[in-house]
Amino acid sequence: MTVNGRLLGNEGRDHAQKALNLMEQFNVPPTPENYAVWVSFATDSNPELCNSIKARIESEEEFTDTVSADLFEQYFQWKAIQDAILESGGAMSRELGAVKQSLEAAERDTAAYGQALEGASTELKGLPDNDGMKVLVESLVSATAKMQRRSQDLEKRLQETSNEVTQLRSNLEKVREEAMTDALTGIANRKRFDEVLRKARRDSDTAKKPLSLVLCDIDFFKRFNDTWGHQTGDQIIRFVAGCLTRHSADSHLVARYGGEEFGIVMQGTSPVEAAQVAEKIRRTVESKKLLRKSTNEDLGNITVSLGIANYTGNESVEELIERADSNLYRSKTEGRNRLTEDQPENNANAA
Ligand code: GH3
Ligand code: MG
Ligand code: MG
Repeated sequence: MTVNGRLLGNEGRDHAQKALNLMEQFNVPPTPENYAVWVSFATDSNPELCNSIKARIESEEEFTDTVSADLFEQYFQWKAIQDAILESGGAMSRELGAVKQSLEAAERDTAAYGQALEGASTELKGLPDNDGMKVLVESLVSATAKMQRRSQDLEKRLQETSNEVTQLRSNLEKVREEAMTDALTGIANRKRFDEVLRKARRDSDTAKKPLSLVLCDIDFFKRFNDTWGHQTGDQIIRFVAGCLTRHSADSHLVARYGGEEFGIVMQGTSPVEAAQVAEKIRRTVESKKLLRKSTNEDLGNITVSLGIANYTGNESVEELIERADSNLYRSKTEGRNRLTEDQPENNANAA
C-alpha cells in the first residue's frame, strides 16, 4: 500500500493506525478522502491542515460530513490542481525552451547561408571560369537545400509544440472543470457557486440586470439518513439536484452549496419568475414518490424548504446570501416544505 507514493513500512503502518484511531475518536467515517486527511494530520505533513484540525479539536467542533468534505477539498483537491498547473507550466516551459533552441539554430544557419551568398557574390565579381562557376553553383544549391531542410524541421517542431500546448490547455481546462464540480451530483460545487455569484453581482451592478438567489435545504434529512442509511441519503441528494437542474433555466447556476443544501443563482430573471421556478421545484420534490434504488422499497416523499432573496443593488454577496438564508430559516421555522420570499421591510430599498 502506498501513501503519497511511498511504500508503507513499519513507520507508515504506525501512522495509518494513528490516523484510524483518531478518526474513530472523532467519529469520522473511514472514507478514502477522510483517510487521506487524517493520515496527513497523523504524519504532521501539512502545517495548515494540522492547524485547521487542531483548532477544531480545541473548540470541540464536530467533524461533520460537511467539515470533512471541506477539509478534503481545501487541502487535497486544490493541491491536485496546483500540482497539475505546476506540471503543465513545467511542460510548457520545456517545450518553449526546445523551440527557442531550434530558432537559435535556425538563426545560425541563416547567418551561414547569408555568408555563403555573400561569398558567392564576391566570387562572381571576379568572373570565374566554367569550373569555378560549377563549384559555386553546387555550393549554393547545397546551402539552399540545407536551409530548406532546416525550415521544414523548424515548422514541424513549431507544429508539434502548438499541438502540445493545445493539449496542455485542454488538460488544464478539464482539471479546472473537475475542481468546480461536485462529485456526488455532477452539478457545480460551492467554489463555482461563490465565483459565479460574485461575478453575477458585479454584472448586475453594471448592466442593471435583476439577480435572485435561491437557497434550498432538504427537510428532516438527518432523520432520513438515520432511517435509510447514508447511501440512500446520497441518492436523495442526487434526486434533488436533478429537480433543481431540470426546472432552472440554462442561464441559472445550480450548485451544491453544502451537504444537503443547494443554491441557484438566477440572473436576468425577474423576482416573480425566480419565485415561480423555486415554487415549481418545491412542488416537484414533494410530489415524487421515492423508491430505494437497491431494494425498490417505498421511501415515501421528501420535501425541501427554500429561501429567496432579490439583489437590492447596494449590498455585498455575503449580505445577499445572509438574506436568502434567513428566508430559508423562516421557511423551516414556519413548518418546512415552503418558499419564503423577501419580506416587505427587507425590500424597501430594492433596486
Ligand atoms: P432540517 O429540516 O432542519 O434541515 O433538518 P435536517 O435533519 O435536514 O437538518 P440539517 O440540515 O442540519 O441536517 C443535515 C444532515 O444532512 C446531516 C448529515 O447527516 C446529512 N448530510 C450532509 N451531507 C450529506 C451527504 O453528503 N450525504 C448524506 N447522505 N447525508 C448528508
Ligand atoms: Mg442543512
Ligand atoms: Mg436539512
